[in-house]
Amino acid sequence: MQISKAKAKKARSTSCPVCQKSVVQAFRPFCSKRCADVDLSRWLNGHYAIPVTEEDGTIPTPFGKDNSEK
Ligand SMILES: [Zn+2]
Repeated sequence: MQISKAKAKKARSTSCPVCQKSVVQAFRPFCSKRCADVDLSRWLNGHYAIPVTEEDGTIPTPFGKDNSEK
């Protein structure tokens, strides 16, 4: 039985344009949200030159103590 060949071919042709790792379906065409952010940042920087924000860092909020997200 070799029915998995067609499937493998499809999955193989995709790699993250940022780090060349295997693409994760949820983050297509990237391998992770981080790489998606990297690509987006590059794109935005090229057009608008806005500062890059770190997703997993501490983002200061104007509300200070109001940490309802966690
Ligand atoms: Zn990647």
